[in-house]
Amino acid sequence: MSLLRQPLLLLARSAAVKKAVSTMPVSAGIVRSYVPGETTATAVDATADLVDDGLRVTLDFLGEDTLDAEQAEATVAAYVDLLEQLAVRGLTRSAEVSVKLSAVGQALPDNGHKIALENARTICRAARNAGTTVTLDMEDHTTTDSTLAILHELRKDFPETGAVLQAALRRTEADCRALAHEGSRVRLCKGAYLEPEHAAFVDKLEIDRSYVRCLKVLLAGEGYPMIATHDPRMVRIASSLASRYGRTPGTYEFQMLYGIRPEEQRRLAKDGETVRVYVPYGLEWYGYLMRRLAERPQNLTFFLRSLISKK
Ligand SMILES: Cc1cc2nc3c(=O)[nH]c(=O)nc-3n(C[C@H](O)[C@H](O)[C@H](O)COP(=O)(O)OP(=O)(O)OC[C@H]3O[C@@H](n4cnc5c(N)ncnc54)[C@H](O)[C@@H]3O)c2cc1C
Repeated sequence: MSLLRQPLLLLARSAAVKKAVSTMPVSAGIVRSYVPGETTATAVDATADLVDDGLRVTLDFLGEDTLDAEQAEATVAAYVDLLEQLAVRGLTRSAEVSVKLSAVGQALPDNGHKIALENARTICRAARNAGTTVTLDMEDHTTTDSTLAILHELRKDFPETGAVLQAALRRTEADCRALAHEGSRVRLCKGAYLEPEHAAFVDKLEIDRSYVRCLKVLLAGEGYPMIATHDPRMVRIASSLASRYGRTPGTYEFQMLYGIRPEEQRRLAKDGETVRVYVPYGLEWYGYLMRRLAERPQNLTFFLRSLISKK
């Protein structure tokens, strides 16, 4: 595990550093390689380009940990607008949305859980009207129970709603078993948050082993696994497990983040796999970028350089 991962993930949650860094004009720097733009229009254009290349998309309107109910409502409005624009461009067969519940009110001190549920319901309804689906991103382990409870509620009316499970968490293999049922869409990722040892594996090898155990549960199950990783080893293992369990392409999919291993995304799609790219957009890129830097501290130099050059 990189020595820089922990400090970078701590910084990802620092309001003071966020304020200092986010006001700097880094749009031409490393942010651009992970985030195609700030506006709905740029996000929709990026989606159209990816779809032209044979890829599918899930879009994330950036933002998290909001403690402001109005901000949560603005996020809902942004998703509704995005979904309408995607429908107008005929992209909703290939593009869906990913939602962080903490961006729509989950962290609000009074009734956060309930507010997030109602806001997520509004987005699910807009997605249904546009002809597509929602996947609920998963945040740190303190939110897992609330997020899965909201998922359960939403699925009563919108059974197509997707979940995310993180192999780093000790509980996840059991959560995979509970969610590997018919009609259930589950994205499996390693987990991007700084977690305590009682809740999560910290050793990289242990996380990888957990990822493979969870893959087996999901691929052997009845649901639709969404295999979110850039790790070449995990991609290879997932492919061979998929054939071992008799899965044909289209009964599961691979997912990768915008800007990370783009050639591999296209190679897998050319080989007949379904590949979905996670496209984040908007002004609130700080937490997202810090998590990406924590995964790849080599990029820190590029980031610092782009801050200094202020382009
Ligand atoms: C579609 C998608 C959705 C996700 N949703 C969530 C979520 O809801 N909740 C959550 O906690 N996490 C989420 N994640 C993040 C995930 O948990 C991991 O933090 C992230 O994917 C890195 O893990 P990895 O599996 O790619 O493997 P790693 O072992 O981190 O990386 C494997 C290889 O991928 C390449 N790579 C990895 N990161 C980078 C980078 N930043 N820049 C360039 N190359 C890189 C490198 O070649 C590296 O050796 C999501 C990831 C994806 C792909």
